[in-house]
Amino acid sequence: MLTALYPATCVGCGLLLRAAPEARALPLCTACLPEAVPLAPEARTVAGCTALFAYEGPLAAAITRLKFGGDAAVAGPLARLLADGIATTPSLAEAGPWDLLVPIPLHPLRALARGFDQVVLLTTWLRRTWPVGLPPEHRPRLLRRVRRTTPQTALDGQERRRNLRGAFAARAPEALRDRRILLVDDVTTTGATLEAGRAALLEAGAAAVVGLALLRALP
Ligand SMILES: [Zn+2]
Repeated sequence: MLTALYPATCVGCGLLLRAAPEARALPLCTACLPEAVPLAPEARTVAGCTALFAYEGPLAAAITRLKFGGDAAVAGPLARLLADGIATTPSLAEAGPWDLLVPIPLHPLRALARGFDQVVLLTTWLRRTWPVGLPPEHRPRLLRRVRRTTPQTALDGQERRRNLRGAFAARAPEALRDRRILLVDDVTTTGATLEAGRAALLEAGAAAVVGLALLRALP
């Protein structure tokens, strides 16, 4: 069944894969595979935010294709990496189970310009391929951006935090009161975005919020 859902292509370069993707540890061809850098399980969690791979090589290329190339076919295989990470990262295994799965939202104007929200694609697939126990409820509209922020790449850590203060608000506090939430983003650098989203959810009454990104841009 999964073979029909996942395209049997390398997410890094688009090359057709010979073995079924679910039989492989990573949805990558033999040329791209050695270039993907998984973070060591003990190095994945920094300041309460967990990331699974370094932001470089074929997985960075896959995120770029998803985000700016509109190549939605890589979302499923990338979500499978998130699912594997949830199953294999001790800090995440200990923090679960979660009631709700919430993506970090794009600003609505940016989503409108792009035509889709790549993190929602990832969390949609993640819920479908949930690795352990009952999948959490997918709530892509629970968190919203209340103002447009300067693109983070131009800013340093402290400026990022300032830029993001008050950037998010919870839309339905009654839906998240006392719930345990897994908050997901595609790429993190300092963790400032996940941290700002986490603060908004906790402020609205969530019992616990864990931040998870697929890739971490290393300084
Ligand atoms: Zn490849």
